[in-house]
Amino acid sequence: MSNMLYEALFAPLAGRSSTFLFTREGKEISGRDFHDLVLRFASTFATLGLKCGDRVAVQVAKSPEALALYGAAVASGIVFLPLNTAYTASEVAYFVDDSGAALLIGDDAHAATLQEVAQKARAKFLSLNADGSGTFSDEAEKESATYVPAERGPDDLAALLYTSGTTGRSKGAMLSQKNLLSNAEVLVREWRFTGEDVLLHALPIFHTHGLFVACNVVLLSRGSMIFLPSFKPDDIIRFLPMATSMMGVPTFYTRLLDDPRFDRELTQHMRLFTSGSAPLLADTHVAFEKRTGHKILERYGMTETNMSTSNPYEGERRAGTVGFPLPGIELRIVNADTNEPAADGEPGIIEVRGPNVFQGYWRMPEKTKEELREDGFFITGDIGRIDEDGYVSIVGRQKDLIITGGYNVYPKEIELVFDEQPGVMESAVIGLPHPDFGEAVACVVVPENGTSLNPSELEAIAGEKLARFKQPKVIFIVDELPRNTMGKVQKNVLRDTYHEYFR
Ligand code: ATP
Ligand code: MG
Repeated sequence: MSNMLYEALFAPLAGRSSTFLFTREGKEISGRDFHDLVLRFASTFATLGLKCGDRVAVQVAKSPEALALYGAAVASGIVFLPLNTAYTASEVAYFVDDSGAALLIGDDAHAATLQEVAQKARAKFLSLNADGSGTFSDEAEKESATYVPAERGPDDLAALLYTSGTTGRSKGAMLSQKNLLSNAEVLVREWRFTGEDVLLHALPIFHTHGLFVACNVVLLSRGSMIFLPSFKPDDIIRFLPMATSMMGVPTFYTRLLDDPRFDRELTQHMRLFTSGSAPLLADTHVAFEKRTGHKILERYGMTETNMSTSNPYEGERRAGTVGFPLPGIELRIVNADTNEPAADGEPGIIEVRGPNVFQGYWRMPEKTKEELREDGFFITGDIGRIDEDGYVSIVGRQKDLIITGGYNVYPKEIELVFDEQPGVMESAVIGLPHPDFGEAVACVVVPENGTSLNPSELEAIAGEKLARFKQPKVIFIVDELPRNTMGKVQKNVLRDTYHEYFR
């Protein structure tokens, strides 16, 4: 046995004098210095009494030190559990409690409440702040960088990553060393990452996208990152000239397109822009290409599976699709009613099988059984279809499917009709409780800047383009859609807002 994730991702940094991380403040951290930090942090875990398989919950600002905590967890066989920095103390309490974490690391600004949270869960609390200071760092100062990494097998857990909570309470996805490494390997190959790459990293590192897709790919390919604390168009424009590649969520790209400084000249040298976590509007894809000459490469994945599909690096990147299943990963579409494979081109539930698929939900054996089939396929809960060329597109989530008067309505189909209309920036279609229909189709529309929209005109268009049962029974005009940190539209928030409308 060895520790393959550590060997593949972090060990190669040891002898590296070149820069691994560039910070916003202009600091450059070499591979060797980062590796020393990883080992010192791993020694600190050991001194604190943490053992292989223990969980460490981490709610800290994005920083090189925060990333080193991940490396230290991998080195010491401790299960890494990163938490959204927006979570309140009571939310953090749920995760610490649920995971049985032995250690909670948080910001000094919330030390008093987090200390209490930790105490209640019989965990230790230490701090790590955005600038790298804190009681954890103080402890680490006393350690030397001579830690011997723990032995871990491919099926041992590396991380416990809670889902985003878009559709309900977050679930802890157990991810093994093999889950993470196999996915990083396939993405490095498919997206052609090399040691020459400099990734512009502006995503948070408490989700799969920013942590595993972005960091693991760069670590494995021995590239480097411009590691920004958050997404700010000014920073992106400032650092783009140094980068070769960028990974983003769709809102990054729509916000950059709003900035006239973001143009062909600025992006000419770039090798790759990828998008995921939420659907990229076909319009954005087209506008981006028109502005920069680059086609955004859209991919699809989730906490439980890492990445499952990707548009091709070479070959057509098709707007509105998430491309093909990645090598080594099987994807099938299953009819939700019959549980049989869906007919060609028909929408159905996406199921995925491969080395990427997680080990189950933490302490939720029932839920795990419901969603992980005996033959190894994971029922994603996303609805998708495969076109005649094999491109997968995401139609929506099963939980967002509307059943009105006995008919199934896929919100995406209606959203596409509205999104196309002049003056419409975007739309979200939801089902609202209705006394006659069970659910009624409702559409929330955001006008383009400075446009005023007339709901009755939109209704007329729906009347022309959509079967009667798909036509919204009400259209709400709003300034913006509620989104979480990953830019995902929170349809549950919309449903709550308009819940009583037909009652
Ligand atoms: P929860 O499971 O707690 O409700 P969540 O599903 O949003 O939250 P994540 O695992 O972070 O949590 O997100 C995965 C989901 O994001 C996918 O199931 C899918 O619905 C969506 N997604 C990811 N990439 C894309 C994409 N390219 N296009 C459309 N949807 C995407
Ligand atoms: Mg989910």
